Amino acid sequence: MSKYDVVIIGSGLGGLLCGNMLSREGYKVCILEKNKKIGGCLQVFARDKCIFNTGLNYTEGLADGQILNKYFKFFGILEHLKLKQMDKDGFEIITFKGKEYRFAQGEENFVNTLAKDFPNEREALTLYIQKLKQICHQFPLYNLDIEDESKTDYEVLFGESLTDFLKTITKNETLQNVLAGNNLLYAGVPDKTPLYLHALITFSFISSSWRMIDGSQRLATVLAKMIKNNNGTILTHCEVKQLITENKKIVRARLSDNTEIEGDAFISNTHPANTLFMLDENVSGKLYSKRISGLENTFGMFTVYIVLKEKTFPYMNYNHYLYKGDNVWTSASDAEGKWPDSFFLYTPATSKSDKFADGLIAMTYMKYDVLKKWENTFVESRGNDYLIFKKERAEKLIELIEEKLPGIKSKIKTYYTSTPLTYRDYTGTPQGSAYGILKNFNTPFKTLVMPKTKISNLFFTGQNLNIHGILGVSIGAVMTCGEFLGMDYLMKKIKGS
Ligand SMILES: Cc1cc2nc3c(=O)[nH]c(=O)nc-3n(C[C@H](O)[C@H](O)[C@H](O)COP(=O)(O)OP(=O)(O)OC[C@H]3O[C@@H](n4cnc5c(N)ncnc54)[C@H](O)[C@@H]3O)c2cc1C
Repeated sequence: MSKYDVVIIGSGLGGLLCGNMLSREGYKVCILEKNKKIGGCLQVFARDKCIFNTGLNYTEGLADGQILNKYFKFFGILEHLKLKQMDKDGFEIITFKGKEYRFAQGEENFVNTLAKDFPNEREALTLYIQKLKQICHQFPLYNLDIEDESKTDYEVLFGESLTDFLKTITKNETLQNVLAGNNLLYAGVPDKTPLYLHALITFSFISSSWRMIDGSQRLATVLAKMIKNNNGTILTHCEVKQLITENKKIVRARLSDNTEIEGDAFISNTHPANTLFMLDENVSGKLYSKRISGLENTFGMFTVYIVLKEKTFPYMNYNHYLYKGDNVWTSASDAEGKWPDSFFLYTPATSKSDKFADGLIAMTYMKYDVLKKWENTFVESRGNDYLIFKKERAEKLIELIEEKLPGIKSKIKTYYTSTPLTYRDYTGTPQGSAYGILKNFNTPFKTLVMPKTKISNLFFTGQNLNIHGILGVSIGAVMTCGEFLGMDYLMKKIKGS
């Protein structure tokens, strides 16, 4: 039986980054991935020569000197990526109550651009951007220059509500809604979403926003190559079913075919609740397991991947967020009769053309409840009624897109769809949750998951730690590897690179 220093369960961005950092420091790592393809949400798929992302539509903070740029340089991956900066004067177009509002890149540009629509709200916009910046500054890993972490009062920081904050800076309800108009990006819930979550994500995107040309799979491929160059092992078609313990430590991971992989330490890139499910409750601790498995998860998404007729539709270097109702907090919990009442839509960047788009991706929330009927089915074998359901839903979403982009229907060659069940089955996220555990300012510390667990040689990484998204998961991976290599050592290296 092979034995490794560190066995990593899952090859999502979190697992690959840990594999990269640890293998280059001399650890003998093995990544076990249940799917045929590595990458988790970084995976893309191709249809009719069109590449579709499944979970990385755009990313942030990659300009020189910015936060993800520093991390990606440290990981050694920046130079290998093909990036396209989005429209600096409007990378997000928020359509609310029929009117379009633009989010621009750069703090001043952001304020000046929105001030054109809200001329009496310049002060509120300035306060908004200052607060976001100040919050980012309080997180040592989002601001590598912080001198004294002890000045950060996490209890206050994690307990602030996004919607309450927006009400303190302006009485203008339209502006309050517009500022939260990209909340599909973090699955915002008005009485739960903490301000810090919005701040870390939105401020990083305002700093700079980027698309990965020809899709996000390249990120996974580059990382895998580096891991293999460092003598790391990546095994696909290896689903971990059980973690076997001796003397309260994990000694082996048992796969679905009963093969066992031995390790000194284990990092789980899968959802924490699923990980604890692989363990005997007597080892993981009943209370801990109950707390983790009881945590609420974010909503899942229904997505339409549209193949466009050749050269009929322009490439849009920005995203569209549209809300049909009178607030942007439309959620999957809304009455299904209203569905869909919002969407996020964009054209992926390709190396084929700057001018025309070959595809379009549109997504909206989908309640897991509406999928209960197919809960016990698996990808590709859910039956005809599921296909009919998906078609009906896709057509409803396309109707709403047609309202925003008149004529788009005539440009569609064909389309494909996914539901939260697709994500549940591919990435293992509970109920197809898009971004994992829901952060809640009412119970902030309960919804925080740390890399260290009750078991001394088991660690978590990935979107359920820290924050979801490429930046959040990168920082989470550094936190996890800090448990092995020391945070001071890693921080020095990141700053040095
Ligand atoms: C629809 C959607 C849109 C998104 N858009 C953006 C965006 O525009 N920008 C952005 O920054 N972020 C976006 N995100 C979020 C981002 O993609 C994720 O936060 C991030 O990729 C998650 O990485 P991860 O490493 O935590 O896990 P995952 O990518 O979920 O990977 C987990 C891996 O573990 C494997 N696995 C699970 N169970 C087992 C097991 N038992 N044995 C072996 N392997 C297992 C899975 O197959 C998978 O490969 C989006 C997410 C979704 C769902």
